[in-house]
Order: sequence, then C-alpha cells, then structure tokens
Amino acid sequence: MQISEEQIKQVNKTIDALIKAESFYGKKLEEAGIEQIASQEDFLNLPFSEKNDLREAYPLGLMTVPEEKIVRIHSSSGTTGLPIIIPYTQKDVDDWATMFARCYRLAGITNQDRMQITPGYGLWTAGIGFQAGAERLGAMVVPMGPGNTEKQLQMMQDMKSTVLCATSSYALLLTEEIQKRGIRDRICLKKGVIGSERWGQKMRDRISQELGIELYDIYGLTEIYGPGIGISCKNDNGMHYWDDYIYLEIIDPVTLQPVPDGEWGEIVITTLVKEGAPLIRYRTHDMSRIIPGECPCGCQHPRIDVIAGRTDDMIKIKGVNVFPKQIEEILQEFPDLSSEYQIRISHLDGRDTMRIYVETNGSVDFLKIAQRVAARVKSKIGFTPLVKVVEIGLLPRSEKKTKRVIDERYN
Ligand code: ZN
Repeated sequence: MQISEEQIKQVNKTIDALIKAESFYGKKLEEAGIEQIASQEDFLNLPFSEKNDLREAYPLGLMTVPEEKIVRIHSSSGTTGLPIIIPYTQKDVDDWATMFARCYRLAGITNQDRMQITPGYGLWTAGIGFQAGAERLGAMVVPMGPGNTEKQLQMMQDMKSTVLCATSSYALLLTEEIQKRGIRDRICLKKGVIGSERWGQKMRDRISQELGIELYDIYGLTEIYGPGIGISCKNDNGMHYWDDYIYLEIIDPVTLQPVPDGEWGEIVITTLVKEGAPLIRYRTHDMSRIIPGECPCGCQHPRIDVIAGRTDDMIKIKGVNVFPKQIEEILQEFPDLSSEYQIRISHLDGRDTMRIYVETNGSVDFLKIAQRVAARVKSKIGFTPLVKVVEIGLLPRSEKKTKRVIDERYN
C-alpha cells in the first residue's frame, strides 16, 4: 500500500518528536542520519522497531511528550522478562475511543445496544478500550470483565445484553454454558465483537449458529493503542483498518522487504498521530495480507485478512515449516471433529514428532478418524503426525487465550 503525502507529513512530525524526546527510536534515527522523509523509498529506509526495544525502555522510556501530558499507562505482559509500558496522552485515549466507536458502527451497533464487556480491565488494554468506544457511541455498557460465568449469564439475561464483547475462547465457553443450561431463548444477544485472538472458521460457526448471532473480529495490540484499530464488516472478508491513524505494511519476515498487496507476510505498523508513545515501523509478528480492491460494504478504509498466526508460531518439524493454522484448516475438513485441538511437538528417539489431539463425540470410530487426519496432513503438508482422538470436552478451554501448541522439545 502506497504511503500518501498526508501520511508522510504525519511521519515527519513523529520523527521530530522521537528525536526531541531522545527515545530509543530517536537514537536509531540519529545513528542512521535520518531527519525527515520525502517519499515511499525514504520511508522504507526507516529502521524497524521491535518488542525488545520497547521492553528495554521499561518503565517510562517510551514517553515522547512531557510527563504532565500523560494521563494513563497500559502494559502488555510478556511471557518472559519485563513488561512493556505504553504511556497515553488525553488525545491518544480520545483517538482510541473514536476508532473503537467507528469499529462498532461498522458492525452495525448503535446507542440502542446493551454491550456486555467480558475482556479484562486494568493494565491490559482490552476491557477499558471496549468500554470507552461503547460510551463514545452512546451504547449501554455492562462492564463485567472476565470470569464468573454464573454472574455473566445472569446479567446477560436480566440486562438483556444485545452485544457480547469477548475473546473467542470465552465466547465459546459461554456458548457451551448457554447450550448446557438450555437458556438460549432467554438470551437477547444479536452480535459478538471478538478480540483478535486467532480462531478458526469452525469455532466461529459454532458460536454464531448456537447463539444465532453475527460475529465481528476486532484487531489491535497494546503497543498500538489496543484493540479497535480495525474490524471485520458485514461482508466478512477481512478487516478494515483505520489508515488515518495507522500506516500498515506487510513485509516478508525473513528478508524484511515489503511484499506486493495480496501476498501474506508480517504486519508492520506506524502510528500517524499518536503522542504518548508513537511507533515507527513496529513489527507485530502477526501474519496477514492486504486484501486488494474495494469492499462491497462501501467502507473506503483498506482491509487486511484475518490473522493467520504469529511469525514465531512457525514450527519446523522434520525439515518442514508448519503454521498451526494449516493444521487447523485440515481439521476443519472433518465435520465429526469439534473446534478444539492441541498440538504437541516433542523429540523422541532422536526424531521430532507432532501429536495432534482432537475431539469428537462417541459415535464415530476413533481409530479410523485418526488415520484419516494423519493421511490428510501427510498429503497436504508432507509429514505424518500422531493423531490422538478424545471425547468432546476433554481438551482445555480457558477464559483468556487457549494455548493450542505446546513445544516440549526445549523443556
Ligand atoms: Zn467491508
């Protein structure tokens, strides 16, 4: 996607602020001798920024304005080491709410809706972002936060919530509970706005069919405001993102070169108007692609495809590169399997092996279905996994993100 004149101006403003603040990126620019850009080519010479740069700036090294302008921080917890702290100005908080409200509008949500918000509040950006956007829109918020399924279902019935905001795992958990208790006809949900966790079509169909609701995928990450920088539309073909707030590139994660529109690669984001902690060419490690052409829904903002995985999800097994998404797609070809699965990689007897755990109900032949799945993986990806079939409900579900790939080789 070509960078516009306006976007170049905005990037130059950001460059000035970063140099003035002597942040890590300001120093990178000084080392590279870059003060301003004038073209796409100049832009592509700007250095990348990485999660590690942000971590090293802990606690407040990313602050790019005087402290009196900072009104809030959020934090993304890394699995290892120091967390990342992102400072926000009032304008950043307002812009984020504006983007979020725009997401809701694209999903057809109005001030007549009652929105039950189940993502976590606090240091994490999720809950408060969902809420600020809903208030901006004028909808009624039921601010639940995660967990306490009993209370969630009670409030959902009593408050007659029409929109559920959740991670896909939690939406599935609630769906299963609603089904188990037979209370579907007491639930008023019409739409679900589901956080950017990667999820398969099968899980999506299950939630949408069981509850009879429309689902929208929302995209975002704490480093860049939080969720709400993009959302899928009624056409359900990719997610529109707000190119007046961010400039988005897709690069080849190995060569770091941009790929043509339409090709898969890693999402790299530049903030255009962020003040507290602006970022230039931030590597998200999320895999997607630009969807070329206009969307039939009429929205003029560009689109990316649903997130296919993380660049670091790539598993190398028996010399073959595999994304969990590829396994997931194969499993979706089998209607007898549930949406849940787990992949375990281990090193046994000097060889890497992949075990795939899947769920089905008791009415099918476990051994036969395991053989068919293994044969399908062999023919589509090129190696034979061990497939273990278990009863529905035996694989772990969680209220946050379900861990589906466990690499035991390095434990
Ligand atoms: Zn659209």
